[in-house]
Amino acid sequence: MVPAHAPCLTLPLARDSLSSIMRDITHPAERLVQAMARIYQYRMTTTSGGNLSILDDDGSIWITPARVDKGALRVEDIVRVLPDGRSEGRHKPSSEFPFHQRIYQQRPDLKAIVHAHPVALVAFSICGQTPDTRLFTKARAVCGEVGFAPYALPGSDLLGNRIAEVFATGPDCVMLENHGVVVAGVDFPAAFRRFETLEFVAKTVVKARALGDVRYLTDEQLAIGGQCGAELEEFDPGPASSRERALRRELCDFIRRGYHQRLLTANAGSFSVRVEADSFLISTQLVDRATIAPDQLALIRDGRRERRRHPSRAWRLHQLIYQKHPEIRAIVNATPVNATAFSASASRLDTRTIPESYIFLRDVAVLPFSWVYDAPEKIAESMTPEFPIALIENDCALVLGTTILDAFDRLEVLESTAEAVILSRSLGEVRPMDDGVIKELVTAFLSPENLNSPEL
Ligand SMILES: [Zn+2]
Repeated sequence: MVPAHAPCLTLPLARDSLSSIMRDITHPAERLVQAMARIYQYRMTTTSGGNLSILDDDGSIWITPARVDKGALRVEDIVRVLPDGRSEGRHKPSSEFPFHQRIYQQRPDLKAIVHAHPVALVAFSICGQTPDTRLFTKARAVCGEVGFAPYALPGSDLLGNRIAEVFATGPDCVMLENHGVVVAGVDFPAAFRRFETLEFVAKTVVKARALGDVRYLTDEQLAIGGQCGAELEEFDPGPASSRERALRRELCDFIRRGYHQRLLTANAGSFSVRVEADSFLISTQLVDRATIAPDQLALIRDGRRERRRHPSRAWRLHQLIYQKHPEIRAIVNATPVNATAFSASASRLDTRTIPESYIFLRDVAVLPFSWVYDAPEKIAESMTPEFPIALIENDCALVLGTTILDAFDRLEVLESTAEAVILSRSLGEVRPMDDGVIKELVTAFLSPENLNSPEL
């Protein structure tokens, strides 16, 4: 019998879970260069701002250099500061080295630090506020309570002491007054995950505030969301068919594309594709969506998981939907920021904005948060091929498709529609298409003989 909370994780999602069981073979300098490239690419820092470090086992600190273009950082630019204070490398260490060092001294459990000035977190910083991570179960689990350090001169010992004092009281994320954010972790992937998640929370709150009051999760809801289902039984799938291999490649292509289009974050969002009537492939827990490879997906067959793969927590919900709707062949749970803002607001997303939006999205249902945990079958029942999109309160967007491309396309239309509606808030009242226009669209594009997706 499946416990009531089965759709939750199959492994406990402690703040740094799984990091320790994935053996890290990337050199610290390489890791810092890759991370800075990503942070810069997605405009979470500028050429001049931000610095990253890793504490090595021998006590050395690898850190990004001072005054080097963040958009063109190379492995040889990274500086190593030895425990005796000498540094190795062609540049000086970041001018913010003092606070990195003080944090490592105060919190021996932390081995990696990300500091940057991403715009949504800076918006909180300059208003003297901290983002509330109770917006989503996962954000609360990943980021915890966020600290706040008073302003001090960049690069000063005073700033280092003020930040380290806040870290010493427990938080792993600390906002800096009129500056930015510092986030740390037991290793670099954990710190980066936390950093990206916190910026996502900040952006979502800002967007949701544009729609009205923001809804946060209660202690009780967080407790329900933090529960974990029973460990899934493993099976050995044997050799993969050509069809399965092709689907693995296609699904990974779309997951990476979803990350690059900012529809998924590095470790959140689940994407699956049906392989056979009783089996499907799904993304796995804590695997980086930006780089996911075909062998990192999990095959689920008859409620069992492929050996040594830990499927996304949504596997149970996806299985119920595949069982209920044989024509559905792909499902995605994602957190594009604009659509997700609607999930944390009482404001309904009206899709009668432009023909493309209504035709691809129809009416978007909003489903209760608790259903993910205590009634996933109700989610499966309330979604149909005719109404393939729902928002789950304080969680995500859920999109069904007849192919991976179909689901992805709808997800993109959903996000664009939500963004347009949020942008329109500063312009005036939206004038939705009237019933006559909707009827005409339904006849032209959504009648049974015209159901293939039109180009608009
Ligand atoms: Zn800074």
